[in-house]
Amino acid sequence: MSSRRNFIQMVSAPLIAMPFFSQAETVQENLHSIEDGPILKVALLGLGGYANIVAKAMQNCKRAKITALISGTPSKLDQWGEKYSVPKSHRFSYEELEKIKNNPDIDAVYIMTPNLRHPEFAIKVANLGKHVISEKPMATNVKDAQRMIDACKKAGVKLLVGYRMHFEPNTLEIIKKREAGEFGKILFFQGLSGFIIGDPKQWRLNKQLAGGGSMMDIGIYSINGARYMLGEEPIWVTAQETKTDPEKFKEGVDETILFQMGFPSGAVASCLSTYALNNLDKFYLNGTKGFAEMMPSTGYGPIKAKTNKGELSYPHVTHQTIQMDEFAAILHDGKTPKIPVDGEEGLKDMKIIEAIFEAVKSGKKVALK
Ligand code: NAD
Repeated sequence: MSSRRNFIQMVSAPLIAMPFFSQAETVQENLHSIEDGPILKVALLGLGGYANIVAKAMQNCKRAKITALISGTPSKLDQWGEKYSVPKSHRFSYEELEKIKNNPDIDAVYIMTPNLRHPEFAIKVANLGKHVISEKPMATNVKDAQRMIDACKKAGVKLLVGYRMHFEPNTLEIIKKREAGEFGKILFFQGLSGFIIGDPKQWRLNKQLAGGGSMMDIGIYSINGARYMLGEEPIWVTAQETKTDPEKFKEGVDETILFQMGFPSGAVASCLSTYALNNLDKFYLNGTKGFAEMMPSTGYGPIKAKTNKGELSYPHVTHQTIQMDEFAAILHDGKTPKIPVDGEEGLKDMKIIEAIFEAVKSGKKVALK
């Protein structure tokens, strides 16, 4: 056992700093992490701000490794290739995506483009036989989200959504306490999600590329959070929109939406999604016996959490590092995460977002099926 452990440490230690490729530029088979599971070989697609955070975080992964890069910008492929020791043979333009087919160095493609393009790339990747990881929101509408799920199912590959909070220790501990009944019967959740958005020309303020405004980008954290903090699916929504800058936030691009959700148990959620305020990252869960509060609740951390009994003291973890190690366990070992991260989970949020947009338009309560 000890010699096996030594071997594993020997092969896994350099994984962090050294190239993953042999001289023939193929990934060696049989490399195992210190946790003795196969490495998830990941191609990053869309090399922007978030991909940069994921790529850095992946340097500390035990079970996931960047093995290929896919981008629309040739200079980025060169820079990132050098930085992350990905050889030229494993750098692809969007047009060259087909080349990943049958490439043994790629298990999954992590899509981190503007929202509009997630479905198109996901369906292509699935048809090339690779697992799909899509950033949130998984699509800009329910129909496309469903198309992604169907394509992955048909191709026999898995679809995961980058819900990094689903692996965050404070979050999981509060859920455990709720399940143990520590807060009594839960009747209320509050979710506040927002930041002041800058450049008016960016894709996040383009209805077509983003699918909306703050709701698709940041409000989704309160929607998703309400679901995992309460452990229930909403049955209705109501919503109201306000706009202080119609120039910056054009038709179909929401600046601020206040929304409410009702749950089968009788619990209600009251949430705010906005691109007009900073310091808005808070979850509050209240039951008949106690409460939990997280502030910040979904930022990159450290997450600060407390209950009526005091503060939680989990050390800070890099969300993207644990997410990618957990994704490896899901995709390679068939692990079932405590909170789902699959396409169906992403679809539920998309359906709620569409219902919120409908409620804003009609001013009426919208039932969720
Ligand atoms: P970004 O603008 O920094 O990067 C987007 C990348 O896509 C860039 O490389 C850009 O060159 C490329 N791109 C731009 N327009 C494109 C197009 N039309 N087609 C294909 N590629 C295009 O954005 P970002 O902040 O990295 O966000 C990317 C995705 O990641 C979004 O879906 C966003 O919601 C998600 N995200 C998630 C988190 C998280 O915490 N989970 C955080 C930030 C962003």
